[in-house]
Amino acid sequence: MKEINRIGVFTSGGDSPGMNAAIRAVVRTALYKNKQVTGIYHGYQGMMDGDFIPMESRSVSNIIQLGGTILKTARCLPFRTVEGRAQAYKNLVEAGIDGLVAIGGDGTFTGAEIFSREYDIPVVCIPGTIDNDLYGTDYTLGYDTATNTVIEAIDKIRDTAASHDRLFFIEVMGRDSGCIALNAGIAGGAEAILLPEKATAIDDLIQHLSKGARQQKSSSIVIVAEGDHNGGAYNVAKRVKEKFSHYDAKVSILGHLQRGGSPSSFDRVLASRMGYAAVNQLIAGNTRIMIGMRGNEICTTPLEEAINNKEYKLSEDMLEIAEVLSL
Ligand code: ATP
Repeated sequence: MKEINRIGVFTSGGDSPGMNAAIRAVVRTALYKNKQVTGIYHGYQGMMDGDFIPMESRSVSNIIQLGGTILKTARCLPFRTVEGRAQAYKNLVEAGIDGLVAIGGDGTFTGAEIFSREYDIPVVCIPGTIDNDLYGTDYTLGYDTATNTVIEAIDKIRDTAASHDRLFFIEVMGRDSGCIALNAGIAGGAEAILLPEKATAIDDLIQHLSKGARQQKSSSIVIVAEGDHNGGAYNVAKRVKEKFSHYDAKVSILGHLQRGGSPSSFDRVLASRMGYAAVNQLIAGNTRIMIGMRGNEICTTPLEEAINNKEYKLSEDMLEIAEVLSL
């Protein structure tokens, strides 16, 4: 086992609140263990361009509360090529970087896995994505904050929905994962939740909303995950309006505001625990693993498994709770 002297840390793929808190934890844990740290800007793009910065304890002062990522992030197609990765490796060697901590989603993990095998460079990954759809962890960084952002929006929209007796369709992020939609829907008291994992027929939705109306509900909120089978909130609203014309229906797409904002205390603590664990795992000689948290315990999963195991499912209990409590 080769001793690691300089750790390179980077963020990649979509940004998520808590990435800065994770960078801070990586830098300070590494320094505490007498290792040096280099920040790599713009993910794999910066690795290929040699866009590096030495990091000290003060480099990460006052960032724990910031959304986004001070190291910036990017999607980098050339890193998928052999030539691109060769260029990246050359730059790492020149900068004396002999271990990596990558913060991102499954695409970032795939790049890390391939690169680490190709050049025998140790890498430990931290799951940073608001979607919470990765195998091997109960929570990913940013998911809690994003869910809270959505709840705040639902609460505000509910005020106006109730005042005007309106039906609101609120579209939230989640192309393949309904985690944000389901949890924010329950927490925001939504009347219905449409998810990518579970097809909902428009007729069933109308029947459900009609039942609520018969029980004196004068306004309703329907949460639609962007990957819902009916094609998003505008399409759902249009089709419901055709059959449910007496309701004043409106659509609100929350979009990228769900990605930003100050991380919640949960995400800050999770990021601190994961960053700390990532450095310790790297120093202990472990590689090609993802740090996760299961049942409030920090754990590790081989990257290959985290990438390829698609057995992630929404809890049946949660689906039932959403249904039972909505009328
Ligand atoms: P998010 O969940 O927010 O989409 P992500 O990490 O999955 O985050 P991607 O854009 O899929 O985001 O991946 C990030 C980067 O990882 C890519 O831009 C690319 O540089 C690298 N990457 C992804 N797949 C591969 C691959 N097969 N080989 C090499 N690099 C890859």
